[in-house]
Amino acid sequence: MELKIDNISKTYPNGVKALVNVSLTIPTGMYGLLGPNGAGKSTLMRTIATLQEPNSGSITLGELDVLKDKDKVRQMLGYLPQEFGVYPKTSAVDLLNYLALLKGIHDPANRKDIVSAILQKVNLYEWRNKAVSSFSGGMRQRFGIAQCLLGDPRLIIVDEPTAGLDPGERNRFYNLLSEIGEAVIVILSTHIVQDVRELCANMAIINNGRVLFAGTPDDGLDLIRNKVWARQVDKADLESYKQRYKVLSNKLIGGRPLIHIYSDEAPDASFRAAENTLEDVFFAKINEIL
Ligand code: ADP
Repeated sequence: MELKIDNISKTYPNGVKALVNVSLTIPTGMYGLLGPNGAGKSTLMRTIATLQEPNSGSITLGELDVLKDKDKVRQMLGYLPQEFGVYPKTSAVDLLNYLALLKGIHDPANRKDIVSAILQKVNLYEWRNKAVSSFSGGMRQRFGIAQCLLGDPRLIIVDEPTAGLDPGERNRFYNLLSEIGEAVIVILSTHIVQDVRELCANMAIINNGRVLFAGTPDDGLDLIRNKVWARQVDKADLESYKQRYKVLSNKLIGGRPLIHIYSDEAPDASFRAAENTLEDVFFAKINEIL
């Protein structure tokens, strides 16, 4: 099954063009939608999740018209929004049981089995009787995935799921997402390049509501192969480097800026060839260097 997004545009009433002619074809497996804050990711995710209408364009999921057959799409959808909202004092098992009921899993014995199996899958079974409000950030996100998995979805959308997680929690969350399976479409929206690099077979970069790149991470790396150069500079010289070169990024290493620049050849012998990273592709695209 494929999710096909065709020429979707959305302008909010205040005039912000959140999406401009967005077209993407998303196959099964993990798909990374990478963009800085304000790029339009959540707008696109909410539109695919049938929660808001675009101004124009179409979206199909297999044979289904997502913008028309909303009820059918919702039955096939698991959605973890950016803000999951209120975390009630209810226990994880009771809340998941209630959400399962809302998803139409009516048979109590069947529901109990499904809820237990999902709690085990996301590694929360041990904590099933604890209030969701008492959970850590990582546990809450895993609970968010648990509710996504109810009803055997074919399309799972997770919006900025790793923001605010510490490195250990992020790793546990990555492992969980990567286990969800290859027969399902999983769209992961994020501003964190590492999320996409570690998990996604296919990806797109968006900014200002426009698709700047779509392909595999390797296709992205091909765009900059052998064209990124690195050196450490003095803080005082940073501005002049920025004026002379196409600076992709600068990071402090031991208090001194390490710059990456984009250039067909090494500008001079003080630069060394940098390892090609998806982060450089991201910066090259969003700064319109490529
Ligand atoms: P992202 O998820 O990539 O951070 P969003 O889709 O949330 O991006 O936002 C894209 C743009 O649309 C931003 O400029 C944001 O301020 C604007 N925006 C988002 N939601 C609304 C809204 N309900 N009304 C007006 N502007 C909005």
